[in-house]
Amino acid sequence: MENVIIIGTGCAGWTAAVYTGRANLKPLVISGEQPGGQLTTTTEVENFPGFPEGIMGPELMMRMQQQAEKFGTRVEYDLVSSVAKQSDGSILVKTAGGAEYHTHTVIIATGASPRWLFLDREKELVGHGLTSCATCDGAFYPDVPVVVVGGGDSACEEASFLTRFASKVYLVHRRDELRASKIMADRALANPKIEPIWNSELKEYLTDEKGDMRAVTVLNRLTGEESELEVKCVFVAIGHDPNTGFLAGSGVALDEDSYVVQNGHSTQTNISGIFSAGDVSDHIYRQAITAAGNGCQAALDAERYITALED
Ligand code: NAP
Repeated sequence: MENVIIIGTGCAGWTAAVYTGRANLKPLVISGEQPGGQLTTTTEVENFPGFPEGIMGPELMMRMQQQAEKFGTRVEYDLVSSVAKQSDGSILVKTAGGAEYHTHTVIIATGASPRWLFLDREKELVGHGLTSCATCDGAFYPDVPVVVVGGGDSACEEASFLTRFASKVYLVHRRDELRASKIMADRALANPKIEPIWNSELKEYLTDEKGDMRAVTVLNRLTGEESELEVKCVFVAIGHDPNTGFLAGSGVALDEDSYVVQNGHSTQTNISGIFSAGDVSDHIYRQAITAAGNGCQAALDAERYITALED
């Protein structure tokens, strides 16, 4: 019987592991599809406190893992396929690799995945002028034109934020009206640095000799016309999908967008002993540091739950 199984190895998962490890609970972490989570797809992280010179995303995740392992965390490189509460109060966790674990508690820290456009070479361009996070990467593009793709609150918020750095922000949206709330949409459209490009979609990323973004091809969906926009960075802001598919049939409550619902100020889900942390439950803040903080909260909640069981 495990004390705690942490599903996911992003900031939330590793922080939960550091805390439960230091509480001597010998946590078992199951890595998931993308060990290290979303930060492994970024380059430099400048807004994680404690690193005044910045730190590369993959290195930050590696250090978190080392810190977790130092306190007795064990890691399995596998994918969880199901989580099920048992009649004796324990939780059964099964993996795609065929392993089965019984545990007192589970911390779901599987994160969310940004939606991408599925254009050619998209994966290799992430970190080279293609990103899904303006807060993370906006400051790397001062005084150059950039593109934001999308028409929701995220796209409008990111476009407005990027006007602090970029010389111009093109907002490319596939329809002729924004999905964003009126206040966000009005703010973006009133900003003289933002130029909306309606009824349009990106067709191609164009790179320079170093492999960095230099322009995009834009297709007008109404006229069929194609044009080129010279931009140094493309911010794809077409939404995120929480990684909760494996929870189908588990009884864990999800909201209408499939994020795990937390109970008020705690990280407890609707099922006792099952906690969640980070982007899998958060579609508002979505920052490395907020995920880490929530991972800490989940670890403390799980620890208290186990103590109550022992009592
Ligand atoms: P969203 O509301 O789902 O909007 C996604 C946008 O991307 C839509 O405009 C959609 O176009 C477009 N899109 C989707 N797939 C596309 C594709 N393949 N190609 C081109 N465009 C595509 O997502 P979001 O903006 O990330 O917001 C998610 C949730 O978080 C919302 O509830 C939002 O209110 C909330 N949020 C709140 C704040 C805030 O209050 N500060 C900030 C950010 C997000 P269509 O419009 O044509 O469908």
